[in-house]
Amino acid sequence: MIARVVRLNEASLEGSVVLLTLHDVTGIKRAERMRADFVANASHELRTPLSSLIGFLETLRGPAADDAEARDRFLGIMHDQAVRMSRLVSDLMSLSRIEMEEHTQPTAAIEVGAVLDGIVNGLQIRAGERQITVERTYSQLPAVVGDTEALTQIFQNLIENALKYGRKGSHVRIEAWPVSDGTTRRGRRLDQPSLAISVIDQGEGIPREHLPRLTERFYRVDPARSRELGGTGLGLAIVKHLVNRHRGLLEIESELGKGSRFTVYLPLAGSNRGSQAAE
Ligand code: ADP
Repeated sequence: MIARVVRLNEASLEGSVVLLTLHDVTGIKRAERMRADFVANASHELRTPLSSLIGFLETLRGPAADDAEARDRFLGIMHDQAVRMSRLVSDLMSLSRIEMEEHTQPTAAIEVGAVLDGIVNGLQIRAGERQITVERTYSQLPAVVGDTEALTQIFQNLIENALKYGRKGSHVRIEAWPVSDGTTRRGRRLDQPSLAISVIDQGEGIPREHLPRLTERFYRVDPARSRELGGTGLGLAIVKHLVNRHRGLLEIESELGKGSRFTVYLPLAGSNRGSQAAE
């Protein structure tokens, strides 16, 4: 807390008017700290693949110059590191764009079923690589208020995570239903008629103590595993921001050894818009 005293009438002390202003700077300090942490984390995430690229390049120009087998192997690793950096830069750009647009609410009526179908079709090859079957348990869905690009990004991230963290040979299920009683799966009240969409995987699940922090930038349950799977640690932070922009809600449930369910609640088109916050 910072207190500032301003004397409005300097000439006569006796009759002076004193204005005392109190500023709570804890929020500002926390925001500054988060910003500094974010820049430090982002720099670290970029520097790791960059150092590896430089190291391999130097080896290729020196000791491994005439070793064809080593060259092919190193080029493969360098390619993976460059892809990782490129993915990280595009996630960082997405986050910064989303933050700038945070206060603009989408207004279009979107057929979210078509959005989900497009994503699932586009991910069939990736699902096949892990022998995962994607099931959809919905048919006709009511329109939601949204933005097609943002909704695509939300569900692309959630379904990609389900394919990444789901067990090989397992199933990923997408369920969708209009919420009739105004209550979420975890018992929260929705202040507007909503459509719920769950992405459910059969993975290892997430320990309970991690759930509240999953949507923080760069927060990972197992950082080494996330990096190995090509993750940037920004996917769920992006999802949270975009869901907030839709005045929707994100709920995460998970059971160790069984899997996880990420549910997004979106306002139905034609409903009164209120505001709810993602976790
Ligand atoms: P990442 O790029 O690491 O996947 P995300 O922001 O998408 O980053 O997710 C943050 C972390 O949450 C992941 O590193 C992982 O530990 C955990 N996570 C996300 N989705 C799942 C899931 N479906 N099953 C298990 N863990 C998950």
